[in-house]
Amino acid sequence: MKNPSILEIKDLSVSIKEEKIINNLNLSIKTGEIHVIMGKNGSGKSTLAKVIAGHPAYKIIQGKIIFNNQDITNEDPEIRSHMGIFLAFQYPIEIPGVSNIDFLRIIYNSKQKAKNQKELDPLSFFELINNKLKEINMDTSFLNRHVNEGFSGGEKKKNEILQMSLLNSKLSILDEIDSGLDVDALKSVAHNINCFANSTNSILIITHYQKLIDYIKPNYVHVMKEGKIIYTGDSDTAAKIEEHGYDHIRNINKSIADLT
Ligand code: ADP
Ligand code: MG
Repeated sequence: MKNPSILEIKDLSVSIKEEKIINNLNLSIKTGEIHVIMGKNGSGKSTLAKVIAGHPAYKIIQGKIIFNNQDITNEDPEIRSHMGIFLAFQYPIEIPGVSNIDFLRIIYNSKQKAKNQKELDPLSFFELINNKLKEINMDTSFLNRHVNEGFSGGEKKKNEILQMSLLNSKLSILDEIDSGLDVDALKSVAHNINCFANSTNSILIITHYQKLIDYIKPNYVHVMKEGKIIYTGDSDTAAKIEEHGYDHIRNINKSIADLT
């Protein structure tokens, strides 16, 4: 049997402040798949990620977002999150005054509650999160610090990976999870993503880096331009872009042309 579809974006157009940013975009992701979106700065990648997560600042002009066979086009972000959409931000926010472990327990328990499943007391949660930390090789001292406050770029990204692993969402969207990382940190993040990926979840990764794609071997690599996906290829796409540049990709809405 074919894998069920987890995300279907149909003919989506989105604007902010009267400016159209996403233009008739189509995207289909099945359970168990890893997709990558590449594209020049300003092509609308982060906007797409935020629109899937339900960011209220963006106005949907046209089209539909179907998640797990339900139309979520007008759904609240909190409900989308409870339904199984996780977004790791390009620029993770700092929350001064809130300890990381309290924050993590709140988001975990809120999801458990929404699913009518058991919420965890601080002690049992500590045990759970401690195992997650070990999995991703993160020091326990990060639990008692305020959320992302004073974290280095790499540590903030690792904290996003921790949240992804903790929530174990059906669809995890990682917006430039690799930006600002040194080679070792990049390898480690890629390793963590590979360990997390399985046949029951799906991952959408936004990246500029061929290295991450080489480590992760996604099923599909899409190229976005002016709010549209203009090309879909396999994991070799990144290498071709590296060689030829984004401007080499000209086919729009036609059958997929070979890049070389
Ligand atoms: P990418 O992530 O591909 O670099 P973005 O999705 O961040 O691109 O941005 C796409 C375009 O939308 C850019 O021109 C950006 O200036 C514009 N944009 C995004 N968010 C806003 C906003 N809140 N207000 C005004 N313009 C925005
Ligand atoms: Mg972006």
